Amino acid sequence: REVAPERPEKLPAPEPGIAITNRDRVIFPDDGYTKGQLAEYYTALAPLMLPFLAQRPISLVRCPQGRAKKCFFQKHDSGSFGEEVHHVPIREKDGGVEDYLYVESSNGMLACVQMGTIEFHGWCSRSDEVEHPDRMIFDLDPDEGLDFGDVRQAALDIRARLADLGLASFAMLSGGKGVHVVVPLSRGHGWDAHKDFAKRFAEAMSVAEPDRFVATMSKAKRKGKIFIDWLRNQRGSTAIMPYAVRARAGAPVAVPISWKELPAIDSANIYTMSDAETLLERAQGKALAGWGMAEQQLPDI
Ligand code: ATP
Ligand code: MN
Ligand code: MN
Repeated sequence: REVAPERPEKLPAPEPGIAITNRDRVIFPDDGYTKGQLAEYYTALAPLMLPFLAQRPISLVRCPQGRAKKCFFQKHDSGSFGEEVHHVPIREKDGGVEDYLYVESSNGMLACVQMGTIEFHGWCSRSDEVEHPDRMIFDLDPDEGLDFGDVRQAALDIRARLADLGLASFAMLSGGKGVHVVVPLSRGHGWDAHKDFAKRFAEAMSVAEPDRFVATMSKAKRKGKIFIDWLRNQRGSTAIMPYAVRARAGAPVAVPISWKELPAIDSANIYTMSDAETLLERAQGKALAGWGMAEQQLPDI
């Protein structure tokens, strides 16, 4: 059983210690945000991010020339991240073994930023026990044309269904179009049980309300519906980490929110990279106390 990490009392600005070059390079051309500003954002938010991000195998969205140029997902080391970015060997489906990346400090995060990283995505398990996931994500993906009110209601309904099963869940705005419903879990079960539960949960929602929900990826079947993307819960899949900046116009951020505030929120990208102070203040408030933390086991259903 894992003990939930302490919430930081204060949020000291960590010593950078990682040289960020080309600080004035504009990486969000529509908005003017620079690489230096992104490094400052992640330096400030690292204490809030690390309880979730630390030690997870990560997949980085790197955009070395800025978000308007070529961006790519990277999950293996290219040899140049330096010693603050660690490696964990993970068995691949084909039987081979590959080194995946993880960080455990703000310096590790900044080393990624130095390499052109904008987005941090993480596995549902951690590098010390890769085969035992500790969070489940239901990624709500609305079809074009649906409005955020539909996503909001879907998230609340999923929360209620999970609560029926004895599971506490938490909401996060993705910074894009949807909401992620996050279910922290004590470690113990393996990937097969994890994926199977997520799949059956999503399928049960879509069977109960086929006009609103769909549990298969097929675009054709998604018309006018919300895809409950349970595939984030497979071994090797990732989801955007709390407080990560998205490589999208406006530099929106993935933001934890309380269930209470969700009904008043109009879109999934209300916060941006320029809101670091607001996000730090919010995190100290009562509404977000304990967000993403719970000791609970996957039920047998
Ligand atoms: P939105 O709310 O706009 O859907 P999102 O972050 O949920 O934002 P999705 O397209 O639903 O975006 O993707 C969910 C997650 O799947 C991503 O956050 C990412 O971790 C992972 N993912 C998507 N595409 C890729 C890819 N090409 N390679 C690796 N991981 C990916
Ligand atoms: Mn999504
Ligand atoms: Mn998705």
